[in-house]
Amino acid sequence: MLYRFGIGGRLFLAFLCITGLSLSSGIASWLILRHIAAAQSVVNTRALPAVAATQHIAELSAKLVAAAPALAAVQSTAELSAEKAELSVLAREMVESLDQVRKFGPDAQLVEEFAGSVEKMLANLKSNYELVRQRLEQDAAFRGSAEKVTDAAQSILLLSETLISNASAGASAVTASLYSLINDPSRREDAYSAIDRLIEHDIFLMERMYELRHRSAQISLLINRLGRAQSMQEVSEISGVFQDHMKVIRRRILGIDDPVRKKQALEFFSEIETAVGDTPVAGSLFGRRQRAVDLVGKLDTMAEANRDLSAKQNVVARTILERSGAFAKATADRADHAVQIGVVVLILTLLGAVLVSGAIVWLYVERSLVRRLGGLARAMQRLTAGDLNVKVAEDGDDELRTMAVAVNRFREESRRRLDLEQERERIMIELGRHREELQQLVEEQTEQIRLANTRLRQEALDHAEARERAEQASRAKSAFLATMSHEIRTPMTGMLGMIRLLGDTRLSTAQRNHLSVAANSGEALLGILNAILDYSKIESDKAVLEQVDFDMRALVEGVVAFMRPTAAEKGLALVLDVDAKLAPWFSADATKLRQVLFNLVSNAIKFTERGEVRVAVAAGETAEGCQHVRLSVSDTGIGILPEHQVHIFEPFTQTDASITRRFGGTGLGLAICRELARLMGADLTVSSVPGSGSTFTFAVALRMAKRPLRVERRAKRAGRPASCLDILMVEDDDATRLVAETVLAKAGHRVKAVSTGYAAVEAVADFSPDILVMDISLPGIDGLEAMRRVRAALGKQDLPVIAMSAHVFASEVERYLGSGVNAFVAKPIIDGQLLDAIDALSGRRAEPHPMPPAFDEAAYKADIEVLGPAVVERLLALAKTNLPERFRSMRKALDAGDGEMLRDLAHATKSSAGSLGFPQLLAAAAALEAQALSSSDRQLRDGVALCEAAFESGLAELEALLSTGRKQEPAAAE
Ligand code: ADP
Repeated sequence: MLYRFGIGGRLFLAFLCITGLSLSSGIASWLILRHIAAAQSVVNTRALPAVAATQHIAELSAKLVAAAPALAAVQSTAELSAEKAELSVLAREMVESLDQVRKFGPDAQLVEEFAGSVEKMLANLKSNYELVRQRLEQDAAFRGSAEKVTDAAQSILLLSETLISNASAGASAVTASLYSLINDPSRREDAYSAIDRLIEHDIFLMERMYELRHRSAQISLLINRLGRAQSMQEVSEISGVFQDHMKVIRRRILGIDDPVRKKQALEFFSEIETAVGDTPVAGSLFGRRQRAVDLVGKLDTMAEANRDLSAKQNVVARTILERSGAFAKATADRADHAVQIGVVVLILTLLGAVLVSGAIVWLYVERSLVRRLGGLARAMQRLTAGDLNVKVAEDGDDELRTMAVAVNRFREESRRRLDLEQERERIMIELGRHREELQQLVEEQTEQIRLANTRLRQEALDHAEARERAEQASRAKSAFLATMSHEIRTPMTGMLGMIRLLGDTRLSTAQRNHLSVAANSGEALLGILNAILDYSKIESDKAVLEQVDFDMRALVEGVVAFMRPTAAEKGLALVLDVDAKLAPWFSADATKLRQVLFNLVSNAIKFTERGEVRVAVAAGETAEGCQHVRLSVSDTGIGILPEHQVHIFEPFTQTDASITRRFGGTGLGLAICRELARLMGADLTVSSVPGSGSTFTFAVALRMAKRPLRVERRAKRAGRPASCLDILMVEDDDATRLVAETVLAKAGHRVKAVSTGYAAVEAVADFSPDILVMDISLPGIDGLEAMRRVRAALGKQDLPVIAMSAHVFASEVERYLGSGVNAFVAKPIIDGQLLDAIDALSGRRAEPHPMPPAFDEAAYKADIEVLGPAVVERLLALAKTNLPERFRSMRKALDAGDGEMLRDLAHATKSSAGSLGFPQLLAAAAALEAQALSSSDRQLRDGVALCEAAFESGLAELEALLSTGRKQEPAAAE
C-alpha cells in the first residue's frame, strides 16, 4: 500500500513518525515540569511564607520583651506616646505575620497555641501602656504635693532662722547688760534674774527654734527620699519618721512667742498636713508613692510574664519552623522524585525517537533513496563527462525509476546528438574554409569601396563648394536684379510721370498716339521690372505672408471679371465654376493668391487662340478649421510639350524662342507663382497636351475665417483746412522731383523742392511748410533723419510728413510709420495718391476736379482713323457687356472689403475709358483707383456710382453721335 504514495508521500510519512516521537517526549517533559512547578509553587507559596512569618513573630516578640524596661522607665506622656507608636508598629506587624502563620501554618492546633500566646502578649502590651500611664499620673500628682510640702517646710525653716536670730540678739543684749549688773553689787539680784531669764527664756527659745529649723530641714529631706523610695516598706519607714518630725514641729511652733510668726508657722504647718495627711490615704503623699511603687511592681511582673510568653513563643515558633521545614522538604523530595521519573521518561522517549528515526533513515532514505540517487548522480556525471556507455538500473516503481528511464533515454539521445555533432563539426570546418575565402574576397572589395568612398567624399566636397559658389552667385544675382530693378524703377517713375503730364497738355492725335505707345512701353517695362523685383524679393526670402480675411468667391470672380474684356477681345469664352461647398471666408494672403490666379488666367488667355478658358474652384475635405481648395485654370490653347513642362516653372524660361517672339513676356510669371505657392504651402502643377490645351492647378489648404472683416481705411485727419498749402519737398531724383513738383503745383499748392536732407533743413529758415513730402533714400542724412531735423528746426513736432519710397515691403512701411511719418506713398508716384494723402493730412476736402466731358468726340474720331471703324465698333460692343459687369464686381469687392481688388477693377475701367474716349469715366475711375485703399466705404460706393453715371452719359453721347452719323451717312450716300 505504501507504494501508492511515491517518494514525496513516503518521506512525508517518515517525517510524521519522527515528529510524533519528538512530540511525545516533549509532552512527557512538559507534564513532569508541570509537576515540579506545582511542588515548587507549594513550597514558595505556603511553607516559605509560614516559616518567614513565624520567624518574624519570634523576632518581634523578642523586640517587645526588650522594649518593656524602656516602657516601664518612661517619664513623660510624650515619651509614652513615642514608645507606644513604636510598639504599635511592632504589634501591627505581629498581627499581620500571625495572619500569615494562620493561613499557611502546618499544624492548626500548634498555630492556635502560638496565636494565643501572641495575642496575650499583645494584650499585655496594652495593659503595660495603661500601667505606665497610671504611674505617670501618680508621679505627677506626687511631685505636686511634694513640692507644696517642701515649700511649706522651707518657709517654716526660714521662719525658725528668723526667730533664732531674734533670740540670739536678745541673748547678746542680756549678756552685755550682765557685765554692768555684775559690776554693780546693788544690782546683783538683777544680774541673777537676768541670767535666769537668759537661761530660761532666751537660750531655751533658741534651742527650740534650732530644733524647729532642724526638723523642717528633715521634712524636706524625707520628702526627697520618699520620691526615690522603691518599696512599700521604705515608704512606711519614711512615713513613721515623718510623723515624728511633724509632732515635734507642731509643738515647737506652738511654743513660739511672737503671735504673728506663730500664726504664719501654723499656716505653713497646716499646708504640710493638708498635703500629707488630711486627705484619704490613696490621695495622700505617701499613698501616692505607695501606689506608684505598686504600679512599678506590676509592670515588673508583667515584663516577667512577657518574658515567659516570649520564651514560650520561641519554643512554639521553633516547632512551627521545624514542621514547616519538614513540609517544604517533603514537597521538594516529591519534586525531585518527579524530576527523576521525568528524566528517565525523556531519555526513553528520546532513545525511542532516535532509534525509530535511524531505522527510517537507514531502511528507507539510505537504502531506497540515497543509494539509488547516488547511482543516478554518478551515471549523470559520467554522461556529462561524455561516457555514453553507462547504464542505469531501472528498478523500483517510484519517481527514481522514472528518472532512471529518463537518464537512459537522455543517454540514447546524447548518442544521437554526438553523431549529429560530429557531422556538424565536419560541416563547420568546411564552412570555415569557405568563410575565410569569402573574407578575403570582402576585404579586397572593401578596399575598393574605401577608395571609391574617398573619391566620392572628395567629389561631394567639391560639389558642396560648387553649390555654395552657385548659391552665392544666385544671391548676388538676386541682389543685383533687385538693385537694378529698383534703380531702374526710379527713373522709370520719372519718365512715366512726365509722359502722364505730357498727356495732360494739348497734343495732336498723332502725338497722343505716339505718347500712348511710349506710355504702354513704359508700363510694360515697369511690369517687367516689377516682376523681376517680385521674384528677387521672393528668392532672397524677403517676401512675407500677410493674413487677411477675404471672400474667396469674390476674389476669383474679381479676377475673372478683370480678365473678361481681354478674353472677349480674343473671342474666348471665360467660364467660372465655383464649388457650392466652398467656404465663404478664408484667412490667408489674398493679394498673393490673386497674383497667382491672375498670372495663370492671363497666361491661359495669352496662349489660347480659340475655345475657352475655364477657371474652377473645388472645395476638398475640411479638417481642424482648414479647407482644401483646388484652383484650376484650363484652356484650349497651344499646350506645352512634356519635355518643356518641367522647365516652365524655372525663372526666365519660356518653351521656345518663337513664343517670346509671338507672345512676349519675361518667363518669370510661373516662377513667381511657384515660389508664392511654396510660400503659402501650396502645390502648383501643370498637365498639358500639346495642341489641345493645358491645365494649371493650385492646391492649398486654407484656414477658414469665422466672420468677414470689413476693411475701411481712413486717412488720418490733422491740421488746418486749407485750399493752398506750402509744401516742402525733398527728392534726390530730378525726374521724380519734377513730376511731384508739377503735380503739387497743378493742384494749387506752393512748392519748395530740394534734393537733400541738409538742403531741407536749411530751407525751413525762410520757408515754413504746412507739409513735408520727402523721399526716404537720400544722399547724406536719410529721409527719417531729415524729418526729425526739419521738425526740430521749425519747433513743430506735429508737422505732417508724407514719405515716398520704392521700398514697399510691409515691414519697411511699418518702420517709417513707427518713426513718426504720418502717411506713406509708394513710388512710382501716382498723382492722385499723393494729392489724396496731402488732402487727408491737411484736412482739406478733396475738391471735385472740373467735370471733363462725358465723351471726347475728337479722340473717338482719331481712333476711327487709326484703328478703323470695325475695331472701334467691337470695342464699344465689348464695353457695353463688360463695363456693367465690372461695376457689379466693384460693388462685390466693396462688400468683401477688398480695396485692392477695387483698385485693380478701377484701373481696368480707367484703361477701357481711355480706349473708348470717355474722359469723364476715365477721371472717375482714376479717382476711384487712387482712393480705393484710403477712402471710406461710402465715398468709394459714391465713386463707383460716379463711374457708372459717367459711363452711361458717355455711352448716351456716343450713341447720339452714332445715330446722327447713321442719319448723315444715308444722306451723304444719297
Ligand atoms: P511669361 O511671362 O513669358 O508668360 P511664364 O513664366 O508665365 O512667363 O510662362 C513661361 C512659359 O510657359 C511661357 O513662355 C509659355 O511657353 C509657357 N506657358 C505658360 N502658360 C501656358 C499655357 N497656358 N499654355 C501654353 N503654354 C504656357
